[in-house]
Amino acid sequence: MFEKILVANRGEIACRIMRTCKALDVRTVGIYSEADRNSLHVQMADAAHLVGPPPVAQSYLQMDRILEIAMQEQVQAIHPGYGLLSENPEFAKKCAQAGIVFIGPQADTIEQMGNKVNARMAMKHAGVPVVPGTLQPIADAETAVRFANEIGYPVMVKASAGGGGIGMQAVADDDSLRKAFAANTKRVQAYFGDGSMYLEKYLESTRHIEAQILADTHGNVLFLWERECSIQRRHQKILEEAPSTILTADQREQLRSMARNACSALGYVNAGTIECLLDPQGYLYFLEMNTRLQVEHPVTEEITGLDLVAWQLRIANGEALTIKDEDISVSKHAIECRIYAERPDTFLPSPGTITSFKRPAAPWIRHELAVESGMTVTPFYDPMIAKLIVTGDTRNQAIERLQHALHAYQIAGIHTNVPFLQTLVIHPEFQKGNTTTDFIQRHMKQ
Ligand code: ADP
Repeated sequence: MFEKILVANRGEIACRIMRTCKALDVRTVGIYSEADRNSLHVQMADAAHLVGPPPVAQSYLQMDRILEIAMQEQVQAIHPGYGLLSENPEFAKKCAQAGIVFIGPQADTIEQMGNKVNARMAMKHAGVPVVPGTLQPIADAETAVRFANEIGYPVMVKASAGGGGIGMQAVADDDSLRKAFAANTKRVQAYFGDGSMYLEKYLESTRHIEAQILADTHGNVLFLWERECSIQRRHQKILEEAPSTILTADQREQLRSMARNACSALGYVNAGTIECLLDPQGYLYFLEMNTRLQVEHPVTEEITGLDLVAWQLRIANGEALTIKDEDISVSKHAIECRIYAERPDTFLPSPGTITSFKRPAAPWIRHELAVESGMTVTPFYDPMIAKLIVTGDTRNQAIERLQHALHAYQIAGIHTNVPFLQTLVIHPEFQKGNTTTDFIQRHMKQ
């Protein structure tokens, strides 16, 4: 195993990675911005280095500075976490050039899957069904209108370089499409420096189902079942569960073969997620692939009993998977809620100092935290401050436990979305498992 790694991230995911490192006896080097001096991840790291001022572009995205620290500390590998540099092929390349292992897939895989149009094309070639739509970037609004009339409205305008729901809009007629195409092209050009757009058929009443995989450098691929992440606001996940409430054994088998085909076509290595949409007719379509650890990975860990970060490290170190698909038996249900520092009425970020933080404890409750009482949530980063993960023998039991846990969850000094989550998990349609991606729009006051 590695002796020392650098964790190129902050917040709960940096703490999560360092926890596994401690368990594996791997020393950790943390990095922090001026705004994060007193953060938990700095306290947890064996050594920590300042990388720059608060904005991420001047700190956590400073590739050369991070590599300089890595060389100085003589680490063997870098774990990028999620977000930040985790899906930046240039960073993966720079790590390799510096002789440091990037804990993730190859740079060219990251690059290929990072562009959604290229990813769709690669998957189609691999025999993986993709959401109906264009396989090439669209040159202009009129071409988009022509395609939309071919595939039929409603359609979704999407950005090749998109992520985090940016540049995505569903439209139902030519005029709205023209407007959406122009506005989103401009937006993504400014945001990602790449304005290329494509179209997908807008699939109504769908479920977001994603396959978790682990692949080693010896050609072994492990399918770790699915997560259902249909509870979303503005196309962003809020609550995730595993296994899915709706997938049949046949559909799970189909998802498994989609994931396997995708991995073998890409020569994929390390942890990855194949995101799919399940339409009301029961068809699964590839949506995108995330070439990193996901925010919601704990629900998979809870139902499979595996530590995904530990496997990421072992795989990056050249070890072979010792588990096969048939060794995975799932008899539990796990649900994760993302806790955001935001006003529950306006959903706007709510930075400030946490004056008190009380959280429930039970064997079935897991917390992934970035903060504690007395700490300040700054406006510079993603407002997700914690994740609450609850496990039960059945989905009903998990929901019941989650309801209690959310009531015992008390954060003072800042606003959070906990009241919103409390309302969500008592909704009868949620309890029945009628969770489509438009759930919040349909059933919750926003
Ligand atoms: P991003 O990478 O920006 O998060 P995704 O392509 O992963 O975007 O999509 C995020 C969410 O948006 C999906 O989980 C789904 O709810 C919705 N979505 C995306 N594409 C479609 C589509 N073609 N039809 C219906 N919903 C979609």
